[in-house]
Amino acid sequence: MKLTHFINGEQVSADTPFDSLNPSNTDDVVASYPAGGPAEVEAAVAAARGAFPAWSAASPELRSDLLDRVGATLMARGAELGELLAREEGKTRAEATGEVMRAARIFKYFAGEALRRHGQTLESTRPGLDASTWREAVGVYGLITPWNFPIAIPAWKTAPALAFGNTVVLKPANPTPAIAHALATIIHECGAALNVPKGIFNMVLGQGGVGSALVDHPDVAGISFTGSQAVGAKVGIAAMARQARVQMEMGGKNPLVVLADADLDRAVQIALDGGFFQTGQRCTASSRVIVEDAIHDRFVAALAERAKALKVGPALDPATQVGPAASDSQFEQNLRYVGIATGEGGRLVTGGERLSLATPGYFMSPAVIADTNPDMRINNEEVFGPVVSTIRARNYKEALEIANRGNFGLSAGIVTTSLKHARDFRRNVRAGMVMVNLPTAGVDYHVPFGGTRGSSYGAREQGFAAVEFYTQIKTVYVGD
Ligand code: NAP
Repeated sequence: MKLTHFINGEQVSADTPFDSLNPSNTDDVVASYPAGGPAEVEAAVAAARGAFPAWSAASPELRSDLLDRVGATLMARGAELGELLAREEGKTRAEATGEVMRAARIFKYFAGEALRRHGQTLESTRPGLDASTWREAVGVYGLITPWNFPIAIPAWKTAPALAFGNTVVLKPANPTPAIAHALATIIHECGAALNVPKGIFNMVLGQGGVGSALVDHPDVAGISFTGSQAVGAKVGIAAMARQARVQMEMGGKNPLVVLADADLDRAVQIALDGGFFQTGQRCTASSRVIVEDAIHDRFVAALAERAKALKVGPALDPATQVGPAASDSQFEQNLRYVGIATGEGGRLVTGGERLSLATPGYFMSPAVIADTNPDMRINNEEVFGPVVSTIRARNYKEALEIANRGNFGLSAGIVTTSLKHARDFRRNVRAGMVMVNLPTAGVDYHVPFGGTRGSSYGAREQGFAAVEFYTQIKTVYVGD
């Protein structure tokens, strides 16, 4: 499959020097894609800018109809697109189809939001005056997305941007261009069927230089970025230097606190789900498990036993519970961090090995590393793979103190039967999302999402929160 850019309502063909590989079988080339650069970004931004006046003035019904149609198409094609996503990214078929359905529901949710009016009428304190606020579209948004949710994250940025009358240029991550291309094709076809202005949605593929050209472009009014902290720091500085709006969702090192009063089996299942499903490639993965002393040894033994029993294999094999790493570089990073952790004195209880299966892929056995301390690199740096470290805490107070260390603040969980500790944790943990008796990962598509400290910057994403970032307020006074 040869992929194209989408610029001004056209599929722009070019040479396709880059390949997207199946991480379950690297002999399988999923697609080849073009090497976009500043020239394609320039054309895409010009198209988005050209489409903005008509789209921002279009009726809310038309915007809603477009998003509804995209959502319905994604839903109808869920199984087929789930297979493509699993083949390209490596998550299991069930995880991948679930992600496509989530993307579909995001579009449907924002089809409703497009109809909602967010302005307010206010009574002036001065006689003869009316005051009101209006929410209006901002302009062209640059959307920069990662590979780990390669259709849901483009959906949760594109849908609100279009719903509120903005136009967009999407730059999807390198390892997953084919599923982004499938989404772009659906938006393009649904738009053509409804005769929406050309150029409201554009996409540029490429390696290196596309994202930064978008961030630096003076006609891009806002940047919504999801990716690593290292790239986010550069994006934030560049966008703010030219007073663009910017929103960034970055990594996590999410603590899961397990107290001695918890049901052991349940706590192990929560840690297993949070740490290993989707191969641990979630910004919200439960990658640091802080366990109260009294149950620590039993918990670690049970977690290791369950992790060892997980079936690692190709994404599309129905028996697979943990797929491959999504890319060569992510695979090497996972293995490297196991070495870093053991080198620092951590005890590898299970996993952490490169697996040779029937097809050449990036397979690794899920790793549990015990006896780590909060200051080790393994507890402060994001791995983004199936690697879980455990830390011993004397009591709840110490567990909370450990949970609050480090530079990230995305999601934090506690497993306990004590309402008192759960409530205290909710109040005092330094994280943007708190999970009680749940893994730190796993969020609804319509509920605001985001972190604190080094994990996030700017307005929250998803659900009703999206109106903050994708509209601007105008305050209006009318006299006699
Ligand atoms: P990444 O390497 O930071 O890349 C993210 C996106 O930024 C890609 O599209 C990338 O393009 C682009 N990019 C790279 N350098 C750029 C630059 N100088 N200027 C502008 N854009 C640039 O992240 P990733 O490896 O794709 O994704 C994994 C990371 O995403 C993890 O850290 C994870 O925690 C984070 N994540 C966070 C959330 C959240 O909501 N908090 C959700 C999911 C993932 P190329 O692919 O072309 O390099």
